[in-house]
Amino acid sequence: MRRVAIVGRPNVGKSTLFNRLVGRRRAIVDDTPGVTRDIREQPAQLGDLAFMLLDTAGWETAGGEALEARMRRFTERAIESSDVVLFLIDARSGILPLDESFASWLRKRSAKVILVANKCEGRAGQQGLAEAHGLGLGEPIPVSAEHGEGLSDLHEALGRHV
Ligand code: GDP
Ligand code: MG
Repeated sequence: MRRVAIVGRPNVGKSTLFNRLVGRRRAIVDDTPGVTRDIREQPAQLGDLAFMLLDTAGWETAGGEALEARMRRFTERAIESSDVVLFLIDARSGILPLDESFASWLRKRSAKVILVANKCEGRAGQQGLAEAHGLGLGEPIPVSAEHGEGLSDLHEALGRHV
């Protein structure tokens, strides 16, 4: 089964997308606060596509190392063990310097990156979606993980890899 990793800086909606795609099975995911878990993975489904989905967790709040270094270290492991990477940005907050440096690092690491602009429900994400084009990772797919929007476009993009 193909493996798909969700990566990106804290708060872009990685876990929300994970939960949405894992669906009912999230009930068995232990989200106890304070439990540090490096990579959690669950079988997920999007339309007719079935795959293993990886969410990197725990590193966002762990201390001792700069955020970007931690982000790269954990993402490196997720990339190594997956076939496709969903790189999430937050269209509402727009592209931050951390997104930019992470994107250029990611471009060199993995050929199979799908750029996903989350929080695109309503109009508040328009600007961020436009900015995302400048990341050099192709055309961003607008979604709303929280509201379940844009999933058919995500399905189409994933279908090319999964
Ligand atoms: P993570 O840190 O990348 O795993 O992000 P989370 O999944 O924990 O989400 C961070 C915050 O963004 C939470 O408050 C979510 O409710 C919110 N969020 C996630 N997806 C969406 C979305 O599609 N639209 C909006 N408006 N908020 C979202
Ligand atoms: Mg999370």
